[in-house]
Amino acid sequence: MATTRDYYEILGVSKDASVEDIKKKYRKLALQYHPDKNKEAGAEEKFKEISEAYAILSDTEKRAQYDRFGHSGIDGQYSAEDIFRGADFSGFGDIFEMFFGGGRRGGPMGPRRGGDLQYDLYITFEEAAFGVHKDIDIPRTERCSTCSGTGAKAGTSPKRCPTCGGTGQVRTTRSTLGMQFVSTTSCGTCHGRGQIIESPCHVCGGAGRVRSRRTITVNVPAGADSGMTLRLGGEGDAGEPGAPPGDLYIITHVMEHKYFKRVEYDVISELSIPFTQAALGADVMVDTLYGKVKMNIPAGTQTHSVFRLKDKGIQHLQGHGKGDQLIRLIIKTPTKLTPEQKELLRQFEYLSNGKQSEGEGKSNADKQKSEKSRKNKGFFDKVKDAFEG
Ligand SMILES: [Zn+2]
Ligand SMILES: [Zn+2]
Repeated sequence: MATTRDYYEILGVSKDASVEDIKKKYRKLALQYHPDKNKEAGAEEKFKEISEAYAILSDTEKRAQYDRFGHSGIDGQYSAEDIFRGADFSGFGDIFEMFFGGGRRGGPMGPRRGGDLQYDLYITFEEAAFGVHKDIDIPRTERCSTCSGTGAKAGTSPKRCPTCGGTGQVRTTRSTLGMQFVSTTSCGTCHGRGQIIESPCHVCGGAGRVRSRRTITVNVPAGADSGMTLRLGGEGDAGEPGAPPGDLYIITHVMEHKYFKRVEYDVISELSIPFTQAALGADVMVDTLYGKVKMNIPAGTQTHSVFRLKDKGIQHLQGHGKGDQLIRLIIKTPTKLTPEQKELLRQFEYLSNGKQSEGEGKSNADKQKSEKSRKNKGFFDKVKDAFEG
């Protein structure tokens, strides 16, 4: 054997080191001295030495032989090939592959899949609520129709790559320490395609793909909301010949509505009504996604009260049912009052507080007018007329 040094010393482990410790130590030293990485003089010798030490000490039988008889016990018993034949290098495949430039870990490098595309789609509040079919214009790469994506000129066809025989991959075999390591890499001649093009297509120049624009119909489902992603499989960029296209991702953006806001599947809106309607009660017409709806405001309703219209919200995206519409009432206080309105409010205050208000000077004509009309109608009817008319 090449080495006469003590195996334990070579690996830097103690005589009672466990197999795990020996493996760990060997991995470290193998990485350090592998001849494909370490170009220093003697690195290869060193690598062989630590590999031999590992081969002996990781094998129970050989290790026992060595412990009893030293090197003479090994040399008399095993040939150089025997030493490595039974050795367990299985845990170190990655070390050998790494040095031999293996591409196996990342998978074979075949033709590449087409790129994914993203499109921001803007839709109205109603379109999101009820769903919509939208035609969108997408710039993307597509399979060349002239050569059907082969990249070869009309009348010719791609040839099988002579280097890899059409597999797109080449196997590299390296041997060291009497063992063979096989690694697979992408073929450099055809770049993993397995085919070579001798006369390229004049439209795509041999790429098999061309830039183009395409109109695609997107089906936005009822109940869609902002930030939703719709995936259209296979509608992205075309792949390299032999590889699938990418996908198209549609991101939805719902534009703001003049009156409506949305909280999950409920529609939120506000409704302004005169204070008289709030005080006396009224039937009012309310805008909903489904048209105008009559809603009853009971007498004595306070401002910011919220009314719920069942099932007037948005269709649930998944499953059945709809949200509701929530209407917040805003009670308007009049800002400009006519003399008659002022007079009526004074009377209102008087009736509420049981005393006469300190009014501004009023003309007799005003007084007579209001007293006259009071005879014809009840007080609250007059208030209604004055403020809602
Ligand atoms: Zn072409
Ligand atoms: Zn090839």
